[in-house]
Amino acid sequence: MAGFTSRTQAVHDITNRKPMDVTPPASLSSLWASDVFTLAKMKECLPKDVFKSLQNTIEHGVGLDVSVADMVALAMKDWALSKGALYYAHVFYPLTNATAEKHDGFISVQSDGSVISEFSGKVLVQGEPDGSSFPNGGIRSTFEARGYTAWDATSPAYIMTTDNGATLCIPTVFVSWSGEALDKKTPLLRANAAMNKAAHRVLSLLGHSDIAPIKSSCGAEQEYFLVDANFVASRPDLLLAGRTLFGAPSAKGQQFDDHYFGAIPERVQVYMQDVEEQLYRLAIPAKTRHNEVAPGQFEIAPFFESANVATDHQQLLMTVLKNTAKKHGLVCLLHEKPFKGVNGSGKHVNWSVGNSTQGNLLDPGHTPHSNMQFLLFCGAAIRGVHKFGPLLRAVVATASNDHRLGANEAPPAIMSVYLGSQIENVFDQISAGTITGSIIPGMMDLGIDTLPVFKKDAGDRNRTSPFAFTGNRFEFRAVGSGQSVAGPLVALNTILADSLHWVADNLEAQLKSGTDLDTAILNTLKTLIDEHGAVVFGGNGYSAEWHKEAVEKRGLLNLRTAADALPVLKSAAVEALFDGQGVLSPVELASRFEIYAEQYILAIEVEARLVVSMAKTGIYPAVVKYLSDLCTCLADLKAHDIALDDSSLNTIATQLSAMTDKAKALSAALTRHDFASIEEHLQFCAQTIRPLMDEVRQHADALEGEVANELWPYPTYQEMLFVR
Ligand code: ADP
Ligand code: MG
Repeated sequence: MAGFTSRTQAVHDITNRKPMDVTPPASLSSLWASDVFTLAKMKECLPKDVFKSLQNTIEHGVGLDVSVADMVALAMKDWALSKGALYYAHVFYPLTNATAEKHDGFISVQSDGSVISEFSGKVLVQGEPDGSSFPNGGIRSTFEARGYTAWDATSPAYIMTTDNGATLCIPTVFVSWSGEALDKKTPLLRANAAMNKAAHRVLSLLGHSDIAPIKSSCGAEQEYFLVDANFVASRPDLLLAGRTLFGAPSAKGQQFDDHYFGAIPERVQVYMQDVEEQLYRLAIPAKTRHNEVAPGQFEIAPFFESANVATDHQQLLMTVLKNTAKKHGLVCLLHEKPFKGVNGSGKHVNWSVGNSTQGNLLDPGHTPHSNMQFLLFCGAAIRGVHKFGPLLRAVVATASNDHRLGANEAPPAIMSVYLGSQIENVFDQISAGTITGSIIPGMMDLGIDTLPVFKKDAGDRNRTSPFAFTGNRFEFRAVGSGQSVAGPLVALNTILADSLHWVADNLEAQLKSGTDLDTAILNTLKTLIDEHGAVVFGGNGYSAEWHKEAVEKRGLLNLRTAADALPVLKSAAVEALFDGQGVLSPVELASRFEIYAEQYILAIEVEARLVVSMAKTGIYPAVVKYLSDLCTCLADLKAHDIALDDSSLNTIATQLSAMTDKAKALSAALTRHDFASIEEHLQFCAQTIRPLMDEVRQHADALEGEVANELWPYPTYQEMLFVR
């Protein structure tokens, strides 16, 4: 049987694989940013005034002076040619989670037939890819398909080297002919600007006069799985959907916790080293790496950077992870739940706001109770999550993330804030009306003289909260591993902007009526925490009691599926928020709902079709073959008067017909198209298609436990998770 040969062949080949040779890098300093057109490189090759002007744009947010573009383009081209790049690309981020680029050659043919390399400022600043094939959610009709890309000077250009050679990549925004954002970068830049404006207002009211631009920062921890490429090639589900749609649990899973932070397998170690070398060349500060909870699962976390650059780097990191895996005979799975019954993958988005004059505005210092600036910014974040929790749920709503959220390994779908005992206590004091002090964290004495005595953190970690304060930043843990971080960062910065304006309005009104600043701040904080403290929760977010309390007592929403969460994008409150902060117009927001809903439906329909075809063309034939072998064998034995227990015949036959029935029902469900609205279609996918897929799987997985191992057509969980 074909399945038999390819599966055993895969295992055989894999056990004989050797780690690829990766020459140890010369030194970090020779690698670092070698493929990036950095400010330092620009300083070397640009006239002083041109450099100053560009530096002002990049570092201080001053508007771009387009007249410098020609000089920058020339310098950029010379640098790219020196790195062997013959092509350049405007890189943009359409509303899928992908990265898109259109490549053009530097080549320009002259009238006498000779060629020169050419790259003008105009071409650097603006591009016009044919936008018609990118999702636009009804913003453009195809007859007016013009879309423009525009240079984002605040994110550095870099060289990407692939098998096709080297290309100069220029980060850009992507907008329609009428100026509407068709991408993820435009709203991110707008949300940053909105947050800056609001934060500036609050800092001014607090008496600061020297206020540098306030930026948000992001450090994203990326989890991923590595599976041998041979296994993926013989599993249509992994190949096309990025997750297993069938598979009985392995006898050994993650229950021993022996993989977590364990020694990294050699083949993976070599892969990681290769990945890191490329990241360093691209100036992506990869900092930590370790095994994750599930077998075959790993994590990489770069050091935090400004949100815009971090977002571009996050996209690049996912590309590098995937491309490098191919080179090593592996496949990097960024899906949130590749294997049932083992932990899924997330992307923790660490987020803070600050500037060079006032520092990190979410840093509580040693005495948070007297740090009014911190309390106001932290309070604004609390208010934002309380008012717009459903929005935060919506920006992480995808078909794949639904498998993870609320599954006792990742935060629940209910959005709440964890502050840690020290900060929570300060807000309790504010609510009670008098601030007395901060709980002082103790010293950790390990009782062994040779070990250091160190100071404990002010709050313990709480892994069950979707949005946790972790010392000097918030960590948004509900983000999916395969997602762009742009959407979550847009939402966070926008809700913070909205709340900071509320804080500023509140303070201004009181100051105007003669209240002194300290009293005004305390009054504002008290109103804030009394109205929005219901979102603060320090207990176990996985527990059933919390689900009940959150919904019934605290009025928080539990939007279990993406089908429940995505329509939040259409709510009047969310529309007013984005429109009010100048981040997304109602048209832009509506288009996002359309696109994300469509992606959800498409993803589930592709999976459902795979379930039907794998059940019919892979599992059914294998089971029938086994049944027929078994029948022949039992008949032969009977002829010799040997009676063998034949009860499994019945079990198998029953499971097989049940699987076939469910597959038929699923097939039929997929033909339904008469939906009154896109919301109804979403619910149909969540409530009918998904459960049918699960039922087909349940029978198939039961069969996997009955049928001869050598006949089973698809690599098993045991093989995929433990053979490497
Ligand atoms: P853990 O797994 O314990 O949560 P990691 O060290 O793996 O922590 O990741 C923490 C991430 O948070 C890193 O990317 C780090 O750079 C980032 N980070 C640290 N401080 C800040 C900050 N002030 N703002 C944003 N991100 C931060
Ligand atoms: Mg973390």
